[in-house]
This record gives sequence, C-alpha cells and structure tokens, in this order.
Amino acid sequence: MIKLSKGAVPAVLQANAEAWTKAVVDKLARGEKPTKAEKGRYGHADIKGALVAETNGKCAYCESKIRHVTYGDVEHITPKSPIPSRWFDWSNLTLACDVCNTEKGNFVGDHESFIDPYNVDPEEHFWHMGPTIFPRPGSDAAIKTESLLKLNRPELVERRDARLKGLLKHLDAIARVIDAETRRIMLADFLEETRANKEFAALAREIASRAGIHAAA
Ligand SMILES: [Zn+2]
Repeated sequence: MIKLSKGAVPAVLQANAEAWTKAVVDKLARGEKPTKAEKGRYGHADIKGALVAETNGKCAYCESKIRHVTYGDVEHITPKSPIPSRWFDWSNLTLACDVCNTEKGNFVGDHESFIDPYNVDPEEHFWHMGPTIFPRPGSDAAIKTESLLKLNRPELVERRDARLKGLLKHLDAIARVIDAETRRIMLADFLEETRANKEFAALAREIASRAGIHAAA
C-alpha cells in the first residue's frame, strides 16, 4: 500500500453530490428503498475515471493492477451501508479490487484500526519480509488492516513474489555491469519500478532503499 492523494472533485460530482445525497437520505428517512440507479450514481464514468487516475488503476489497498483484468470497484472508505450521507462524498471514494472491497465489507475504521492511504503514509505502517507484508512494530492499525483485508492472501503473495524475483534479478544485473553509463541507465530503470503507477510499488521502494538506490535530488 502506498500514500495516495485526492485529485480535484469531478465536475459531475461537484454539481450533483448534494442532490444525489438528499435523494437517498430522504428516501431512507421515509423507510423507502433508494433505487439501484439512485444508489449507484457514484459509478458515473467521470467519477470512476478520476479515481482510476488518482490510483493509477491499482487497488488503493493491495496495489494490484486491476484495470487490465477487471473494471475495479468504486470503494467507499467509510462503507456505504451505515452512512448514506457519505455515499457521494468525493473524499470518501477510491478504487479497490473486488477482493479487498469484499473483505473490507461494512467495516467502519478510525485511524487506530484502519490504514486509510489518503490520510496516513502506509509505508510508515507496513514493511515486507520477502513477498509478505508485515505490520511495523507498534502499529495496531496495520495489524488490523492486514487481517481485515487479508493482505497476505496466497494469490497476492504469489504475485508479489514474482515481482520481488524480477527486482532482485534486476539488482543482480546492475551489480555485475562494468560500464558506468550502462549502470547509470539500469539504475534509472530500477527507480522507474518504484513509481506509484507500478504494481506493488511499496515493495519496490523498500528493495531500492535496502539496496541504497535513491532518486537523484
Ligand atoms: Zn485489493
């Protein structure tokens, strides 16, 4: 998981969030069920597009690249069911893979129990041993988040392992190269792997840091 930043509120949400929220809140207050269309307005293409841009098409929680295999789910950081007033709140929306979205369910967390990547830097709460994510010592929020989202589910560990092996192979090649210019290019390529748009960037950043590879100032 890496730190994310909110982009600008999409125009369609800016214009309609209040009315969309009022429509569902009023219906629920009257004991009526909002329609599927009324509930799902956060899925508007412009909103989804903005979320895909700010997450680089990755799950905000497990950092899997989801857009090449599924559409991804619009995720409510504070879940949808208990708090309808936040269904169309831009600061409450992100993109998640369907597994993380399902595992999180209706969990309502605070900063003590859930790592919200928009509010805290997850890299200060998690670290990696091989392809496994561990909570950093003293972080209750990381312990609970790892357990809730199952951040070490076998399919994720397998994909992170493949990524790790690729990174280590790259490092091995850098260590063996003799020509200084070739080495400089390979180091720059390695740093590319730590960018936010790369799958499991947190893992790549940790490996770069351990190998003493840092972006030039
Ligand atoms: Zn995920």
